Amino acid sequence: MTTREKIPEERSVTIRQEVLRVLEDAELTVGELSKIIGKSEQELYDHLAHLRGAKSLIIIPAQCLACGFIFRNREKVKKPGKCPKCKDTHISQPMFTAARR
Ligand SMILES: [Zn+2]
Repeated sequence: MTTREKIPEERSVTIRQEVLRVLEDAELTVGELSKIIGKSEQELYDHLAHLRGAKSLIIIPAQCLACGFIFRNREKVKKPGKCPKCKDTHISQPMFTAARR
């Protein structure tokens, strides 16, 4: 028997709706979103990964601040560690926003 409870799906859906609602009015990094929603960045990454399937979520990709390389095809929503082109680690945070329905 395990006492560990899963997050109810209903609650996750509510948080995702809240995330989209906040993003409809702003362009934010996960850190900023975390302060507004009051959830950890790790939890928000999970919700954002789910929301990537939603048409309304828009991800502004991370960019290398040294050479300008844009991480367009990145599968994950997290900030990349270093630039594959110039190996620099000064990389801008990806930003998230949402289209109004
Ligand atoms: Zn670079």
